Amino acid sequence: MTQDSKVRQHRICNFCGQPLEGRFAVRGINAFICETCLEKGYELISRQKKQHLRGKLKLKTPKEIKEYLDQYVVGQERAKKTLAVAVYNHYKRVIRAFEEGNEGSSLEKANILMVGPTGVGKTLLARTIANLLDVPFCIVDATTFTEAGYVGEDVESILTRLLQSANYDVEWAEVGIVYIDEIDKIARKQGENPSITRDVSGEGVQQALLKLLEGSDVLVPPQGGRKHPEQPMIKVNTQHILFFGGGAFDGLDKIIERRLKSSSVGFKTTDVADIDETNLLQYVTPMDLRRYGFIPELIGRFPVITALDPLDERMMRLILTEPKNAIIKQYRELFAIDGIELTFTDDAIDEIVRWAIKLNLGARGLKTIVETILLDYMYELPGSGVDALKITREEVRKKVGERFGSLKKVA
Ligand code: ADP
Repeated sequence: MTQDSKVRQHRICNFCGQPLEGRFAVRGINAFICETCLEKGYELISRQKKQHLRGKLKLKTPKEIKEYLDQYVVGQERAKKTLAVAVYNHYKRVIRAFEEGNEGSSLEKANILMVGPTGVGKTLLARTIANLLDVPFCIVDATTFTEAGYVGEDVESILTRLLQSANYDVEWAEVGIVYIDEIDKIARKQGENPSITRDVSGEGVQQALLKLLEGSDVLVPPQGGRKHPEQPMIKVNTQHILFFGGGAFDGLDKIIERRLKSSSVGFKTTDVADIDETNLLQYVTPMDLRRYGFIPELIGRFPVITALDPLDERMMRLILTEPKNAIIKQYRELFAIDGIELTFTDDAIDEIVRWAIKLNLGARGLKTIVETILLDYMYELPGSGVDALKITREEVRKKVGERFGSLKKVA
């Protein structure tokens, strides 16, 4: 009989009152707890934590999600609907898994891949959904990650950002959303032979990413960057984390076009004449992504694929003026704080849109241009006594012409 068991011989568990003899127990300062009570306590706490999480999660119907997105994101109807359904299904699954008796729920999650030109609202969609659901959210850039052993960040540090966004509440982070930007950049370059080329940023990163997307326990460095052996790690389970991947996928349109036009692939039902050649990304299939340089396992982890449309003049105009936080509304508010009423004439807006299209940065160009026009005024006007500023087409031409004049030749 060991010393400890002698001590316990006449003791009882201070929780259930049963004798400790012959059982495992943990000793506190002035009390003992038996193995049965510990196990029950653990179960109870896990259940309470799940209930708490369940209470924090807001389940929104696809229609509610779509309506919310409509307030912030112009156009992109197809993507909005696809995302609304996918996100609803995802959180329905998560909540179901938290309910009693469904702990082992094996419903597969559906990460979402968004393909589309730069600046058309991919990040905005993901961010807006996270805002609506009020869950932890982070944006990471796939190009900063490298295979373990190379210069760059470990893929696991994606989860560091999510943890930060959840104030290191691990369980809360575990139901968050991650947006992986520029995911197209980790495709294996066309024509590269993986057995010869050491593929630092391509297939190795895809493999590493796969582990995260699969839904497993991942050891995360709390401060991000590289993992150090001496650094304590935080265990994060990725089963309920929703991943969005987004990228411009330059060149993917050519792959899609080739497939659509070759009759041998079995697309005989698709009448080639019906194909909208100005927007081929909308026909993307997993097969195209494979040709683009993604490993099949990774594509398999993105069961939902949606394409975003390029922005036309009409959409650009709406983006400038309509959404809740439209660029022009934001600047009007900024000037109003200084007691200045900022207005734009209609043809000034047209002119801004025209220049933004030339910049070819999607809606991001709009912000650059408005900023260019207003910079001097934002410097000069505060404190000057001026109480109104009207931006005309001539003003736009002058200011933007000074900075981006060379673009005229391109257009
Ligand atoms: P990307 O498609 O490259 O992820 P973003 O979503 O980051 O582009 O868009 C850049 C900025 O342009 C956003 O912050 C937003 O202000 C604006 N924007 C882009 N597309 C839209 C859109 N469809 N509706 C409203 N604003 C948009």
